[in-house]
Amino acid sequence: MIYADNAATTKMSEKALETMVSLIKDTYGNPSSLYEFGQKSREVLEDARAKVAKAIGANPKEIIFTSGGSESDNQAILSAAKAGEAAGKKHIISSAFEHHAVLHTLNKLKKEGFEITLLDVHENGLIDPGEVEDAIKEDTCLVTIMFANNEIGTIEPIREIGEVCKKHGVTFHTDAVQAIGHIPVNVVDDNIDMLSASAHKFHGPKGVGFLYVRKGVRLFNLIEGGAQEKGKRAGTENVPGIAAMAVALEDAVSNLENYSKIVTAKRDRLIEGISDISHSALNGDAKKRLPGNVNFCFEGIEGESILLLLDDKGIAASSGSACTSGSLDPSHVLLAIGRVHDVAHGSLRLTIDESTTDEEVETIIASVKEVVEYLRGFSPVWRDLISGKREFIL
Ligand SMILES: *Cc1c(COP(=O)(O)O)cnc(C)c1O
Repeated sequence: MIYADNAATTKMSEKALETMVSLIKDTYGNPSSLYEFGQKSREVLEDARAKVAKAIGANPKEIIFTSGGSESDNQAILSAAKAGEAAGKKHIISSAFEHHAVLHTLNKLKKEGFEITLLDVHENGLIDPGEVEDAIKEDTCLVTIMFANNEIGTIEPIREIGEVCKKHGVTFHTDAVQAIGHIPVNVVDDNIDMLSASAHKFHGPKGVGFLYVRKGVRLFNLIEGGAQEKGKRAGTENVPGIAAMAVALEDAVSNLENYSKIVTAKRDRLIEGISDISHSALNGDAKKRLPGNVNFCFEGIEGESILLLLDDKGIAASSGSACTSGSLDPSHVLLAIGRVHDVAHGSLRLTIDESTTDEEVETIIASVKEVVEYLRGFSPVWRDLISGKREFIL
């Protein structure tokens, strides 16, 4: 089987797995207990916090462990909204192609009377920092823009957007779930106030993540209870998962340059090979994109059928986000970059990593070509397109 869906989730690294299993077996004390057995777990927890902080240029005191990207996004956004409301500021700026963990949280706030501005994303999948600045008003309490998009892989100008927010004194949150462990991130240099991350997107376990909150930024709880995580996130910490996440992140960050070089070369070969298919188009900027992300639209076919046929050939891919697959609506990300419904339906996302071999890359290219040609062979839409009854868009 060829696994080409690393944006949905990744395989745990050997080191993360070993760390997790050994801690589950032997270090099961509660980190909040005062006896030595619990204190051992406390040490593991604080060591993990130091590792995570170091990986993003933060102070360990600024790291809160959570259950993953969705929880971190919810807590960051709802917190900033609450702090804003207390100061009479109820305007939030975000973008149309955020993850649903962000968009659905913003929808909830909208129902509570917040004004939400969703910025347009340009055709190349990038957001303009100048447009962020233009959207900022007296009562803006939060800007939340993702670091890298989970479907089309584009890397946003986060440092510049952060600078704009800093200049206007607006809190800046970024969903960096796809970026952390894949490209360099430094919360100080990148002017970030709050950042969300998830372990299972960088070879750590599922159900674990963290939220970075810059010193001085107010944070409110989502979960009430004990005084864990400095009272900001109740519940006994998932010590084995957190330690495994820290190990996975430490490894990913120390290998970033090498990873980027190797995976970018494979990505570019995939893009080159798939571009041979007529009436196809790459989604998102060709260069300002994550090392492992390839996302194409093909005219005249359905994304879901491409996936099923690729699955038959032993290739695991996606049409976009895990949340939209299974629904008939085209991806909100592809619509946000201006793809029309018909074209957005025929999308394919391939997300590779270091373990993807050159041979697998060639197999993917050949299989995608075969599948697209086969599907077009009996597509009524394709027949209309080639007979001129309908006009090509791509
Ligand atoms: C996966 C993902 C999330 C959700 O993370 P979970 O840990 O699965 O809750 C949020 N944002 C982005 C961009 C993602 O890719």
